[in-house]
Parts: sequence; structure tokens; C-alpha cells
Amino acid sequence: MITDLRQAQWKKWKDAKSRPGSTDEDDEAILDHDGEGMGTVGAVAIDSKGVLAAATSTGGMTGKPDGRIGDTPIIGAGTWADNRVAVSCTGVGEAFIRTCAAHEVATRVKAGDSLADACGNMLDMVAPLGGRGGVIAIDSKGNIAIPFQTMLMYRGYWKNGEVMTGIGPDLSSH
Ligand code: ASP
Repeated sequence: MITDLRQAQWKKWKDAKSRPGSTDEDDEAILDHDGEGMGTVGAVAIDSKGVLAAATSTGGMTGKPDGRIGDTPIIGAGTWADNRVAVSCTGVGEAFIRTCAAHEVATRVKAGDSLADACGNMLDMVAPLGGRGGVIAIDSKGNIAIPFQTMLMYRGYWKNGEVMTGIGPDLSSH
């Protein structure tokens, strides 16, 4: 499927001879959800019995090599859920794979970190490998963390009847 937005992004990537993918404004590489479009979708949830689940879907990185498998479908890299946390990541997948990023959050929570610290520390670990990105996570107590190091991350959550959404740094209630 060819759209004007994605074709323009592809051309920008090709003209700039950027490396495949990257999340941010500095190095011109393009995620499928850069610009006005949205591509990668992550979801984490806890049910009334305390069961946690995570899911992630993506179009990958602009300019990705044929056959590339990013972090998204790799359980433990871009997506993870166990009985403590559910985690879904977005960003340059290669760096999330190299750090087993989603599982890293679980490891840190198991070791006693708060969910927010675990997510923030994981992103700090991924960033130096060229993987600036974001993560959404929920723990078994219903704590939510949605930090990101990119300019924007479309995100939202529902908790106890309250809906919060945000694109830039701030969240607003609905
Ligand atoms: N992590 C995805 C990938 O590397 C891309 C994304 O999150 O937008 O394929």
C-alpha cells in the first residue's frame, strides 16, 4: 500500500542516505510513525484477576533491509509480559534486541525497582546503542509508566475510569 506520507518519508530517507531507521530528530532516520502518521501500536493491560498482557504491532523502520525482524515480535525485546509486569516498546529495534529491553524492565522490577525507575533505566541503557525510544508498561499493582526519549509519543491510558492522553511531554485528563 502506497500513501503520500509514506512515499515522502521513504524519499527523504533515500535522499539523505540515512541508516535504516532511528527514532529521532538528530539523524534523519525515520520510524513508520514519524510525521503525521502513526504506525507502531503497543498495548499493555491488567484484568480484574490481575493477569497482565502486552502486545505490539509495527510497520518497522523506513529503509529496513528485506527480511529484517525488529524487536516488536521478539518476546523479551520489544514485548514482554509475566506475572509482575507487561511491557511494550517502541524505537530502533536493533538496540532493544541487543539489550532484551522489555525483559530488562521485568528483571529490574523483580529486583525491587519501581516500574518508573525500571522503564527509565531501561531507556537509558538502550539510548547509547542508538535506540532512543519509548515504552509503555503496567505492573501487577496497576502502576503505569509511559516514558519516552523521542520528541513525541502518542499515548494514553485508562485507569479507574479516568482517561489520560498525551502526545508531547504533558498528559491531559478526559
Ligand atoms: N521497534 C520497531 C522496529 O524496530 C519500530 C517502532 O517501534 O516504530 O521495528
